[in-house]
Amino acid sequence: MQGICLLGATGSIGQSTLDIIAQHPDKFALINASANESVDKMADICRRFKPQRVVMGSQKARDELAQQCHGLAISFEWGEEALDSIASDSSVDQVMAAIMGFAGLKPTLAGIRAGKRTLLANKESLVTAGKLFMDEVARHDVMLLPIDSEHNAIYQSLPQTVRGAHKQDVSKVILTASGGPFRTWPLDQMASVTPEQACKHPNWSMGQKISIDSASLMNKGLELIEACWLFDITPNQVDVVVHPESIVHSMVSYLDGSVIAQMSNPDMKIPIAYGMSWPSRVETNVPPLNLIDIARLNFESPDLIRFPNLKLAADAWFMGGTAMATLNAANEIAVAAFLNRQIGFLDIARVNEKVLMAADIVVVNDLDDVFEADRYSRHLALDMISRGSFS
Ligand code: NAD
Ligand code: MG
Repeated sequence: MQGICLLGATGSIGQSTLDIIAQHPDKFALINASANESVDKMADICRRFKPQRVVMGSQKARDELAQQCHGLAISFEWGEEALDSIASDSSVDQVMAAIMGFAGLKPTLAGIRAGKRTLLANKESLVTAGKLFMDEVARHDVMLLPIDSEHNAIYQSLPQTVRGAHKQDVSKVILTASGGPFRTWPLDQMASVTPEQACKHPNWSMGQKISIDSASLMNKGLELIEACWLFDITPNQVDVVVHPESIVHSMVSYLDGSVIAQMSNPDMKIPIAYGMSWPSRVETNVPPLNLIDIARLNFESPDLIRFPNLKLAADAWFMGGTAMATLNAANEIAVAAFLNRQIGFLDIARVNEKVLMAADIVVVNDLDDVFEADRYSRHLALDMISRGSFS
């Protein structure tokens, strides 16, 4: 029996993780869970799964939850320290890191430092703290399993090689991208899209922030950086290929000309279940892939003119140091401003570029450097947005 700490339980990845736990009560148990403000959703989770400890983002949310769940033997807590504590709890075997954004970094690291198997959905934590994050994984000899579908596919296509063995046999990692809802749209139409249009992903149902990132290709940029840290490669060893059907989740190309791909219907339950059950596999209830029905798979190049975020992410990688935390923070602010209808869709990449160019990029010596870069970049982005000085 594996005890799970589910960080971000009320989100899209959280719900899919709960689905897998519910399908396999003999294998997995929800021990601890967290959410930010979604009290009603968390109350449902408490009644169904009866975890030991639950952490909310504020005292108010904690109090409301405790009231709704009166009579259940659950410890209701709130705040950052409690979040770190549920991830490192002795009754937890695996931490599912599924908080949205940079806020996921600290609790994910707390789980790693406690030696927990780490299922990483929260790509922003690895993107921002890259080397420090991977150093902690190595220091605590932690099993790190990527949940992002592309990285999970790469992991599955790199048998035994994730920690470096046989790395010399790999010539390229091929990262697939759906292209998002505006893949074929001309720039002038993209300028006036609404948050509702941008959130409507053609193949995946996801949280708002990652849906906007998918539409702007920032998600692929973050994933490019994520792949570099996870698999110890550089952007020069990664090809991004747009694949609108989202059936091939990514590929690894070997020096003998072989290309190994992982395919499935697009459903996050598959990589989640893979991470939870590795090295075995468990059923997921996802319908099997019917290649005859699908009939055709298409591949094309990404358009870096209409989607500059992808290039910005590669630039940030080569700039190194705090550049990736800077870009990520600018993007979190820009996406929130777009969702609040303060800026247009194309302005997201403009804010990202301006902030990346304006911020001082320094070497990362410790976590404080990452937090300072994040703080300063948010300040710069908010300032630019309030003054409209980003275009
Ligand atoms: P979501 O918005 O649906 O859920 C986010 C969860 O995090 C919620 O439980 C929310 O309460 C919690 N949360 C948000 N802000 C928080 C904060 N400041 N402090 C503490 N908790 C907070 O997001 P999602 O789509 O489930 O994505 C979660 C993570 O997984 C993201 O990093 C995303 O990039 C990654 N991811 C998601 C998918 C997907 O299909 N949804 C695929 C790959 C990777
Ligand atoms: Mg992905």
